[in-house]
Amino acid sequence: MSSRSWENPSEAPYDSEQGSASVTAPERSYRTLAEVDPAGKCVLVRVDFNVPLSSGAISDDTRLRASLPTLEHLLQRDASLVLMSHLGRPKGMTPELRLAPVARRLAELLDREVRYVETPGPGSLEQAAFVAKAPAGSVTLLENTRFDARESCNDPELARILAGYGNLFVNDAFATVHRAHASTEGIAHLLPAAAGHLLVAELESLGRLLNNPERPFKVVLGGAKVSDKIAVIENLLPLVDELFIGGAMAFTLLRTQGGKVGKSLVEEDKIDLARHLIERAREQSVTIHLPADSICAAKAVPGVATEVHPSNGIPIGLMGLDAGPEAVATFRAGLADAKTVFWNGPLGVFEVPPFDRATRALAEAVASLDGFTVVGGGDSVAAVNATGFAHRIGHISTGGGASLELLEGKVLPGIAALAP
Ligand code: ADP
Ligand code: MG
Repeated sequence: MSSRSWENPSEAPYDSEQGSASVTAPERSYRTLAEVDPAGKCVLVRVDFNVPLSSGAISDDTRLRASLPTLEHLLQRDASLVLMSHLGRPKGMTPELRLAPVARRLAELLDREVRYVETPGPGSLEQAAFVAKAPAGSVTLLENTRFDARESCNDPELARILAGYGNLFVNDAFATVHRAHASTEGIAHLLPAAAGHLLVAELESLGRLLNNPERPFKVVLGGAKVSDKIAVIENLLPLVDELFIGGAMAFTLLRTQGGKVGKSLVEEDKIDLARHLIERAREQSVTIHLPADSICAAKAVPGVATEVHPSNGIPIGLMGLDAGPEAVATFRAGLADAKTVFWNGPLGVFEVPPFDRATRALAEAVASLDGFTVVGGGDSVAAVNATGFAHRIGHISTGGGASLELLEGKVLPGIAALAP
């Protein structure tokens, strides 16, 4: 195999039973929509309407559409809905991050009125008055939850105010379940609570990776930083057969072997961590493949002159910005027999063509596999969507950070709080 790999050492004893004992998805500890009766109730739904905006317009409404199964389920059962979402990371009230464009687009998608007025934010008297006037069977969208600083610090008083707006809580915002906020965690303790359809689909699909995944199970990781992904790699090692690592992360791993990586992005302070990771993979008989070659340039700008070099022999002054043709061919061939694949993180600076080629080729390769395929991570999902192969991926996660934390084996506060 032409990619650099750490082969299984014969002398490394590994107790696979002990290794896999900690790696199971937690038992289901939440009610689903099938287990609650929303008829005639006012249901507070925490949705993830954190959509990308460009000049005030929604540039991708995937997250709005992903919420429809839950919203329609509840409306068909004669519930009134009060929807809560954050948008962006405002510090206090920020006019550009109001939810007005979301309300308009959601009304089109639901084909019914969505009640929305500009209010100072969650818990304001104006908002309480507006919610109090909601007719039966209506849909009301509250203003950006993060306009109130109490949201992100999970303030109990704010959670109490929000809980007062309804009599059932449904969480369908998978992308925020790793955060304990007033509208995700605090509120769930104050009302009967259930997981929405999107949340359940995410937990079941990602759970399939942790609970006896069909083998061979192969994981592709890319992106900028090893430090972002180290915990996921460690948790998945006992389950995985092979790891394919690209993106800038690969250069930090190559540096542990003394690779000459030019100006490529390296986390110098993480080289020891990378060495530890390689050692752990060796102990657990997991082969790590790194890109044999890289597309290099002086910097990541469109139209810059590029050269292909071995990833461990990049000239001084150049940086590796995408996996090279040999690496792509090796990754593609290596994945061909996989029964389960998880991919997170682009293989190059895909935002700047031509450094999107390896990521696009990988999207196509993963989409053509017969096994169960999962893609998670904001940038990798954007890359898959841009290639047009999204419909052939088994599961596309709507939550980058949340999917990684779930695969790290962490208990996610938004899920734990749903326990009846
Ligand atoms: P995700 O959002 O899918 O989890 P990350 O946020 O971890 O992915 O990483 C995406 C970022 O990694 C992108 O901005 C991309 O430009 C960057 N990246 C990938 N490969 C390289 C590279 N070789 N050099 C510099 N940056 C890279
Ligand atoms: Mg990202």
